[in-house]
Amino acid sequence: MKKFWWILSATALCAVFCSCALQAQKPSEVSFEAMDTFMSLKIYGENSEDVAKAVQNKTEQLEAMMSAEDENSDIFKANHADAQPFELSEDTADIVQKSLDLCKEAEGSLDITIYPVVCEWGFISKSYKIPRQSKIDELLKSVDYKSVKLDGKKITLLPDMQLDLGAVAKGYAADKGIEICKEEGVSSALLNFGGTVAAVGTKPDASSWKIGIADPENRASYFGYLSCKDTVAATSGGYERCFTGEDGKTYIHIIDPQTGQPVDNDISSVTIVSPSGLKSDALSTALFVMGIDGAREYQKANGGFDFVILSKDNEVYVTSTISQSFTLAEGSKDLKINIVN
Ligand code: AMP
Ligand code: MG
Repeated sequence: MKKFWWILSATALCAVFCSCALQAQKPSEVSFEAMDTFMSLKIYGENSEDVAKAVQNKTEQLEAMMSAEDENSDIFKANHADAQPFELSEDTADIVQKSLDLCKEAEGSLDITIYPVVCEWGFISKSYKIPRQSKIDELLKSVDYKSVKLDGKKITLLPDMQLDLGAVAKGYAADKGIEICKEEGVSSALLNFGGTVAAVGTKPDASSWKIGIADPENRASYFGYLSCKDTVAATSGGYERCFTGEDGKTYIHIIDPQTGQPVDNDISSVTIVSPSGLKSDALSTALFVMGIDGAREYQKANGGFDFVILSKDNEVYVTSTISQSFTLAEGSKDLKINIVN
């Protein structure tokens, strides 16, 4: 019995010592640009410098494979294979397969074959224009994720079909970052992939990480915060990329695959919280397309994730499971919080 208490006390002491040691440690902090956004990593632990480097390397490697604009990427080559089979790398095949499953789950709001329409609006070249509806209708004929054939790593697209992983790539990179942290024994890290933020474990003092949600009115600040541990919060906002047409209307980079038009509904931004980066990222785009009522219905019917939706008329919709973890920023007290589902 005495021996048992001795072992127990020693274990407890060791746990306290390890936690204090982690708190005393300085994190490794790395910032870099990838996937058309600014990324930052904060990682605690003895080998944090090496882990940060490994996460950055993996993210850059994923970008090189998944960019639709880089001529050497898997996606570019698949998009220009003239409807012939093309062999993808393992990671690209994996993200395409998982994304196709998510497109199916999202019931027509998410379609990773949307690239030709995104290009036509000028969101890739940044030479923005409002296309003729007849042109959009023609391009929509080859927008159909259900027609993508993926056999192991071999992909075959329809003629004129082109993939766009812009809605999911950051989430996939977040999942790979989490995987590396876990493999290396990291128990405390915050990985920010530009609006898709992975909280690995907790802060060194065992409290939750605080993740800010960008204020669409002022992207340098936040309208609210989420307390998170072991979860990924991904935000889609119309403010990220948009232009004002000659007609004075604002056109955003999130496209409704049914119409080929930039989404113009009651949503200002959608944040999805789930343990999977890919799911959070995919659904942040998909629920944006659905609008507030559609998003609420979808969450109620499917579950497995939570959301914070900011409407254009200054209402915040937060699912009940995370309502205690969400707080408004000091300067956003005029926003009205609605706890839903
Ligand atoms: P996100 O910022 O994660 O919402 O992703 C938006 C990006 O995904 C856009 O810049 C497009 O490249 C692409 N995209 C836009 N609309 C859709 C859609 N409905 N389904 C799939 N990808 C989309
Ligand atoms: Mg997304």
